[in-house]
Amino acid sequence: MPADLPPQSQRAVFVRLLQYVRPYVGVVAIAIAFAMVYSGARYLRAYLLKPIVDDVLIAGESIESIALLVGLMILALPIGHFGKDYAVEWTLGRILVDIQQALCRKLLALPLAFHHDRSRGDILSRALNDVTRSHRALNVFLNDVVQSVIGIILGVTTLLWLSWQLTLVSLIVAPMLMAVIAFFGGRIQRGARKRQIKMGDVTQRFLQILSGIKVIKAFRAEATEEAGFERENLKLFRRHMRVILARVTSHSSVEMLNNMMNIGVLLLGAWCVQQGMWGLTPGDVSAFATVLLTTYRPMKLLTKGWTHLQEALPSAERFMEVLDEDLQVVDADDAVEIGPITDRIRFEKVSFSYGRESVLREVDLEVRAGETVALVGRTGSGKTTLVDLLARFHDPVSGRITLDGVDLRQIERDSLLRRIAIVTQEAFLFSGTIRENVRYGRPDASDEEVDAAARAAHVDEFVDQLPDGWETDVGELGAKLSGGQRQRLTIARAILKNPDVLIFDEATSALDAMSERFVQDAIDHLLEGRTAFLIAHRLATVRNADKIIVLEDGAVSAVGTHESLVAEPGLYRDLVALQGAAPSA
Ligand code: ADP
Repeated sequence: MPADLPPQSQRAVFVRLLQYVRPYVGVVAIAIAFAMVYSGARYLRAYLLKPIVDDVLIAGESIESIALLVGLMILALPIGHFGKDYAVEWTLGRILVDIQQALCRKLLALPLAFHHDRSRGDILSRALNDVTRSHRALNVFLNDVVQSVIGIILGVTTLLWLSWQLTLVSLIVAPMLMAVIAFFGGRIQRGARKRQIKMGDVTQRFLQILSGIKVIKAFRAEATEEAGFERENLKLFRRHMRVILARVTSHSSVEMLNNMMNIGVLLLGAWCVQQGMWGLTPGDVSAFATVLLTTYRPMKLLTKGWTHLQEALPSAERFMEVLDEDLQVVDADDAVEIGPITDRIRFEKVSFSYGRESVLREVDLEVRAGETVALVGRTGSGKTTLVDLLARFHDPVSGRITLDGVDLRQIERDSLLRRIAIVTQEAFLFSGTIRENVRYGRPDASDEEVDAAARAAHVDEFVDQLPDGWETDVGELGAKLSGGQRQRLTIARAILKNPDVLIFDEATSALDAMSERFVQDAIDHLLEGRTAFLIAHRLATVRNADKIIVLEDGAVSAVGTHESLVAEPGLYRDLVALQGAAPSA
């Protein structure tokens, strides 16, 4: 989503926004019908002046002659209003759900690379702020624009019928109105685009403060953060005011033109009656002026709708950009489902890069089913990237990865991920109960299976001390579970999933020695009979691996067992020596 994306044709964006209305055209038709009833009643109310002045007041007819009209009007006004409002709001509510579902679906489907590259604040701002703004434009469109078009058509018809000559005179201002609206519309659009970008920045800052709250407090950086936030926020305010200035100036100019026209026509009408021109009666002129005023409201709504639309189009463009992102990794047409991995996993000359610099270089690797492989190397040597390729979060730039001889790119992604479980350093828990968090590994598991997995991961030992035991809400506990406890929950989740291939990415790095023993025990349970990839900083944890692979700068520099690797000079021996000397290892 580059910021300088050439603006898509505005009309295309608008048409696409309108697509969201399509499933609900039936309801919109009902809304329009009610709007017509409402508008009709309003014009009837204005038109009443003519019979009242000409027939009742001047000609002295009885007032009962118009009683039926009055009754109809009083009934139609509230019914029309209610029906239109309710139907429109219902449609708008459903459209908001649809747009946000589409975004949620897309964000879930987008590859990990997308989420790594983009700022969360930017995405969140597009999904919330920009959607709200586009939605408001639809609101204005359905509520105001549709109604005002009806209103203006009815109004102009009534005006023409009262006096086509006066109507033509009043239409003189129309081109001026359009010029004003078009001029400010462009400014509003450009301003709004800049404002929405800034809004993404502000959201990002908010997120940063929330996620870094502990560090901020520890460094006593509250004041700095607040000042930084204020700076961004005021920038947003200034950009917003630029849009508002254009909007308000546009509305005021329209107001001025309309009033000039109104008074001009009224004076001209009065003069015409005096001169006996165009066959105008005093009733015609009073009714004309009132109908004109009544038409003025939909005109104002129309210009308001137009400017809001100009303001919303850049927002609509921003959320649509997310919807248009490439999905990249998708199943090949001839992708196959894989069963249990019985033979071996192979990396064949696998190279990979996130950008220009290569992160993995011609990695060759062979892991037999059931083996435990440890990946060792300095931070940044490419260990995580290697296992991410195995889970197909990315595809290799060159070379290939095979499971039992089948290229990963030929395997259905769903069936691949059913075989793999990943336990990472950040033990992520979902809102929900302890039991639900374990069951996340396999939603159809029975309670007994969940309990067994939890026991194997030593979860039961701390669950009993929680206020509601298994039913304790993890979200309410918040940060109250320790790192080790959280990690044991994620391991229980992996055990329940019962995968063929296990990936432990620094899963024990953040734990103290005591928790680590529990977790290590849980891991050992999990490893039985499975193919496993262990990434660990503490070499004590990888000692027993069947195979240790040393990565340096994205290339495999040595392969062996603990014994064979310490016997020869190299990175592994250096690291072991280093950690052996450190008291905490
Ligand atoms: P390790 O797990 O061994 O610490 P990683 O696989 O995480 O190493 O990272 C290898 C290299 O790739 C590092 O230089 C890192 O900066 C880079 N890298 C990791 N993830 C990304 C990413 N999403 N985008 C760009 N570069 C990345």
